[in-house]
Parts: sequence; C-alpha cells; structure tokens
Amino acid sequence: MTTMRAAVLVEPGRFELQDRPVPEPGAQEALIKIARVGICGTDMHIFHGNYAAESLPMVPGHEFTGHIAKLRSEVAGLTEGQPVVVDMNIGCTRCYWCRRNEILNCPEMQQMGITMDGAFAEYMTVPARLVIPAPGTTPAEILALTEPLSCVVRAARKAQVTFGQSVVVIGAGPIGNLHVQLMRTIGAAPIIVSDIDANRLKMAKECGADHAVTPDNLHETVMAATDNRGADIVIESVGSETLYAEAQKLIRKGGHLAAFGLTGPDESIRLGILETILDENSVKGSVAGMGQDMHDALTLLTHGRIKTDAFTGADYPLEDIQAAFDTFADRPADLKTQIVM
Ligand SMILES: [Zn+2]
Ligand SMILES: [Zn+2]
Repeated sequence: MTTMRAAVLVEPGRFELQDRPVPEPGAQEALIKIARVGICGTDMHIFHGNYAAESLPMVPGHEFTGHIAKLRSEVAGLTEGQPVVVDMNIGCTRCYWCRRNEILNCPEMQQMGITMDGAFAEYMTVPARLVIPAPGTTPAEILALTEPLSCVVRAARKAQVTFGQSVVVIGAGPIGNLHVQLMRTIGAAPIIVSDIDANRLKMAKECGADHAVTPDNLHETVMAATDNRGADIVIESVGSETLYAEAQKLIRKGGHLAAFGLTGPDESIRLGILETILDENSVKGSVAGMGQDMHDALTLLTHGRIKTDAFTGADYPLEDIQAAFDTFADRPADLKTQIVM
C-alpha cells in the first residue's frame, strides 16, 4: 500500500477526495491506520470557514482512533498492531508553557486536524510521545469518543467539582451530554441541563440529569432545586453570548462559571467586578483536553463509566464525508457522527 485516500477540505464547504502517498513515519513518529473519526462542532466551524481558515486546504479530523501500522524500530513502548488513541496537541516541548505542561497555551502549538493535516484519511503520522495505547476489547466507535470526553474531563478538573455539588449544564448536544454523564459519575447532585431540543433533553435525562428543561424554565428550575441559592457550578456548553450572561445569574455566591462553549471572537458579557469580588465567584476557561485528560477519558470509557449508545450509529464512509458535513445541522438527533474508514 503506497497511496491512500484523504478527504481534503479544499475551501470552506467543499471536500475533495484525493489519492496521496501514505506518509512514512519519522524517527520518533508512528504511522496510524485510522479506523474511526468523530465530527464535532469545531470541525463544523472549520468546514464553514469560521475557524482555522488559514490552514486550508487541509485534512481535518481530530477525534480519532486506529492502530499502529508502522514504527521505526527506535520507538520504545509501542508495538505495531496496537489499537491507540492520540493526544492531538503538539507542543514545542521547550517553552515556558510546555515546561509547565500547559501545552494548550504553547505559542507554537500545532493541533492535528486544525492547524495541520488530521485524520479524515486512511493513514497519518503522529509524534510517538502522543500515542496512547488502548485496550483491544473496547470498540473503535467508543475509543473515538476519547478526545471529546477529554475536553469535558479538563473542564471538570478546572471546576474542582466533587460529590454533592449542584451543577447546571447549558446545552445537551454531544458535549453537553458528556458533561452530564461525567458529573453523574463524579457524584454531583442535582444535575440540571437545558436545551431547546426535546430529543436531546430526553437523552440527557436518560444519561443522568436530574432535571432536563428548556431555557425558559431553567432559572426557575435551578432556584427550586438549590433552595434559591443558585448552582455551585454552571457549565456553558453552547457558545452563546446570551447564554453566558444567563449562566452568570445561575451560579450561587462563591460559585464557579465554566466557560466552555466557543463564542465568536468579538462576543463578550458584562461581568460585575464588585459582585464577583463580594460574592467570591470564579470564572475559568478550558479549550481542549490534553495529556492526563486523554488518559482519564480513555480510562472512563474502557471501564464503561460513560453510556455511549446514544453516540454511536450515525456512521458515514469516508467517500460520503461531504454528505456527513452537509447534513450535520439537520440531524440534531444524531448525538455523534463518525466517519468510518
Ligand atoms: Zn472535537
Ligand atoms: Zn511550547
């Protein structure tokens, strides 16, 4: 096998299937045979030209799993044929942030499928240090959820959430659903989720939310469920200016707002400084999962802590990637769309 198919986003809105040479792994790299790749909101932003437009033409795809197809003999600790997931964030390893393991802030960071070619292809090479072996007993459709779950793991870590804390999740899409499930696993209570889509609310309820409500009933529900205090933690998982403003009103005094949903670059909310000081509130952003987050996400998935039924089943072959992206917005009931190689 010397050539492979790759789905290249040649311009916003248009994929082209191209035959490309199978890349050769370098000294400290692994060649991965891709099995499955999830499509997420970030991919849709890239598809529409709203994000990483300067990277085009490019092969997107960062939520992937596969197995090691080829290694240079000098890579220790990995073996050919091993199923793996891969940490998509490539830091420079030398800067202030990389040395602090804050790779997401590395000024030279590259992200597979975002700033460089990713996984909507039959093969890709990746730095061997970012390869995480996965148990062969866990199906690929579940392993491909590791990266999205790792983002959720990181947000929970930053929120320092623990059992018995009340949590609001705004947005019950795929990521919102994972927030709900992780909070349930941690032991947060009560868990309140809001969305405009009835089917997503139903799934959130099945996945562990105590209350699943539409946005107009959210404030009332949160206050009723928390003795009128507001929630310990509110996670905005949509990316809307209006919803961030609303989220701020849902945290209790001393509560935490997790800024997670990506807004447009110019959007902002009015944050009352005095109120923040007097109430000792906190706001913290988290943008992706990396390092330990990936390991933790993989552990949770392989030990069955996350219900994945709702995330599987909406599969497209690589040949139909254009259709998978074109119809993405019209299929809110598909919690996750995956491309199968
Ligand atoms: Zn993603
Ligand atoms: Zn760096």
